[in-house]
Amino acid sequence: IKPSELVSASLERISATDVKVRAFLSVHGDVALQRATQLDEVPVDAGLLYGIPSAIKDNMNTKGLPTTCGSKILENYESAYDATVISKLNDHGSVVVGKANMDEFAMGSSGENSGFYPTHNPWDLSRVPGGSSSGSAAAVAAGQVLFSLGSDTGGSIRQPASYCGVVGLKPTYGLVSRFGLVSYASSFDQIGPLTQNVEDNAIVLQAIAGHDSYDSTSANVSIPDYLAALTGDIKGLRIALPQEYFGEGMDAGVREQVEKAIKTLEGLGATVGTVSLPHSKYAVAAYYLLAPAEASSNLARFDGVRYGLRVEGENLIDMYKRTRAEGFGEEVKNRIMLGTYALSSGYYDAYYLRAQKVRTLIKQDFDQVFENYDVILSPTAPTTAFPLGVKNDDPVTIYLNDIYTIPVNLAGIPAISVPCGLADGLPVGVQLIGKAFDESTLLRVAHAFE
Ligand code: GLN
Repeated sequence: IKPSELVSASLERISATDVKVRAFLSVHGDVALQRATQLDEVPVDAGLLYGIPSAIKDNMNTKGLPTTCGSKILENYESAYDATVISKLNDHGSVVVGKANMDEFAMGSSGENSGFYPTHNPWDLSRVPGGSSSGSAAAVAAGQVLFSLGSDTGGSIRQPASYCGVVGLKPTYGLVSRFGLVSYASSFDQIGPLTQNVEDNAIVLQAIAGHDSYDSTSANVSIPDYLAALTGDIKGLRIALPQEYFGEGMDAGVREQVEKAIKTLEGLGATVGTVSLPHSKYAVAAYYLLAPAEASSNLARFDGVRYGLRVEGENLIDMYKRTRAEGFGEEVKNRIMLGTYALSSGYYDAYYLRAQKVRTLIKQDFDQVFENYDVILSPTAPTTAFPLGVKNDDPVTIYLNDIYTIPVNLAGIPAISVPCGLADGLPVGVQLIGKAFDESTLLRVAHAFE
């Protein structure tokens, strides 16, 4: 197949399905086809992703295309440069067909915080796809593209992957460059691949991982051959089950599928033990202080001067206020206020500093478990995809949805969500958590299991 044929097929699938799914905020058929036609002339071994159509979460800069972050404040903003991940995809021959829908500035777990319209779950259009990488997960699940990139600050790749029945990997903090990713909470954000299977995930990771001098938090580590890790052999692998992750609040259907997954892995020769991650119960609370604190600072740049929307006012300060009042959605405003409060002098020690200490304790919990185990296994989320609309007015319930994914971002370690069955006809994901920079083991286990 030629790149132009692949890209045409992707565009046809998008026009046939996206009226209902709404995975995309913008589709760029002409640009994509033009690039694909150029690639037709290039030899087939030109790159790991030669001719492969992809969707990019709309918080990554793609030169010449929009980058809205799902926000009205950036509605007409056009990216001035390519994020490092986009340059890498281009070098490997991928063709970006469009920008994927998302919760505004990646704040959310259902896709319903998009400033434009919610994405629908391709498995059941009355349900959410998860979030915040809602469009990235739905586009892969609906067969619109072969892979997408998402970003994960507290679960935003893994949870939608779980709800949409696809594979989603959050790499170790620092493995993939954040240059050109619009920051939400910079010390947590990581870009990662969403794919239909583990092998594709390994290939995309290979293409995007690696040191980047444009990102000061980028790790200077050598990148292994991820495909070579997919041996199918997990004999002797030690799997830890954290007791805190198997308590109340998990749906019976989710529990059943995850327990089945554990049995399958044991059948493949892995051994299983129960462990404790005692500080994980503080993870959500710590995250919802730290992430908004970082966000309140990062989002200060959207002031009507440099990017996107400007609402004229009586003077400069009035213009800032009107622009931000009109441009940001409800949840973003909540988080900016929460973060500003947590960072205020007089409250800093009580909130921000304490939450940072909790973060360290959570990381130590993981370190301790990894002294005796290779991976940690849990559900990705406590439930399957819930109906659109039901949790809109209940932010705390929706925050609790991230209970199994958030500790991983606090610790900066990698984790993957892999489909492990259906509960009432909806996909369930199992989460595998690994040691820092040990994506190879995660991919190996996920692949053996798949
Ligand atoms: N749901 C979490 C939040 O709203 C995580 C989002 C993410 O990972 N970007 O902050």
